[in-house]
Amino acid sequence: MRILVVGQGIAGTALAWALLRRGAHVHVADADLPHPASTAAAGLINPVTGKFYVKTWRYDEFFPVARRFYAEIEAALGIRIWSEARVLRPLDTPKAANDWDARCGDPAYARLLGVCADAGLWQPMLTYNGLWGETRGAARVDFPQLLSAFRAHLARQGLFLFQKIMPEEALRVAADYDAVVFCEGWRGALNPFFPNLPWRLTAGEALLIRLKAPGAPSLRDVLKKNLLFIPLSDGLVWVGATYRHWSPTDPVPAPNTAAIEEELACVLRAPFERVSVASGIRPTVRDRRPLLGSSAQRSEFFMFNGLGTKGALLAPYWAEHMAQHLLKGSALSPEVRLDRI
Ligand SMILES: Cc1cc2nc3c(=O)[nH]c(=O)nc-3n(C[C@H](O)[C@H](O)[C@H](O)COP(=O)(O)OP(=O)(O)OC[C@H]3O[C@@H](n4cnc5c(N)ncnc54)[C@H](O)[C@@H]3O)c2cc1C
Repeated sequence: MRILVVGQGIAGTALAWALLRRGAHVHVADADLPHPASTAAAGLINPVTGKFYVKTWRYDEFFPVARRFYAEIEAALGIRIWSEARVLRPLDTPKAANDWDARCGDPAYARLLGVCADAGLWQPMLTYNGLWGETRGAARVDFPQLLSAFRAHLARQGLFLFQKIMPEEALRVAADYDAVVFCEGWRGALNPFFPNLPWRLTAGEALLIRLKAPGAPSLRDVLKKNLLFIPLSDGLVWVGATYRHWSPTDPVPAPNTAAIEEELACVLRAPFERVSVASGIRPTVRDRRPLLGSSAQRSEFFMFNGLGTKGALLAPYWAEHMAQHLLKGSALSPEVRLDRI
């Protein structure tokens, strides 16, 4: 089967990988269009989130698939993109400590949650010095490295097209393929073959800082206060992210790091320097579920999108699901079908 994948963020990358592994003939097109989500993202998979400490949707099922999927890519491409970590959150009010304690007592969470007396290597760099909630089973996927290594892998085999596929172009090239799958991130909201989908796009930014403290290069744990502090390497820390609803009819969003600056002032006592700002637009959907399926206008046009705020965890599972649908005709789950709402 010949398939054109349009877009090479994490969605297009995961889908193209799943298709190639099953023996499909795949081309991937991308033209590095403005405001992608994947290159701004930290790629964190956090099993328990929000102020109510709730387990991420189908985490127990999706996480092992993601770990296997990225490990396979690591082995095939000779890269290291997956690292597991703890997420530490300050239990800095009696309510936070009580609620955390209650969650720790829930058998569905017992394997994941615990309490620690300090924040380990982070502690001397922080203003808060009390009890911490610990979440195990988190991981980070290095999206920028994955995307560039996979693009180089495709290019070596002549499978990558540096090209923007506009609707007229899609109609023109459709004859050369059995299926064209649009993995366009937020630009999916502009695609005329898939009108009236429940998009609720969100712009976001993160700040990269370099911590100037002796223990900084050895940091591994992720901190979560209002925002996330995610150590990358050599003392570099990704701090984010902000969320603002955005519509393609609004002006192009200017990066706004005020909330990040506030958080830095509140959390850190160690000195740091600002390195760069990363910003992008997330393909978020009203009911926070992916968008998979074919166009009502052109049955050979498909969408694989709507990974929202959780591309790192969702992309592998749903890419496998979409690949089975495309190649074997298996039914799409009603949870993600385009016609569910
Ligand atoms: C600041 C920020 C922080 C985030 N942090 C995390 C996190 O820690 N963990 C996590 O799991 N998720 C995170 N996310 C969400 C995550 O980034 C998304 O879920 C994911 O990246 C979406 O990937 P995508 O491939 O659908 O879209 P994108 O990454 O936007 O990729 C779309 C690609 O398609 C290309 N394209 C679009 N249209 C066309 C066309 N017509 N022709 C050719 N090419 C086209 C674009 O150039 C782009 O490369 C974050 C997002 C942001 C903005």
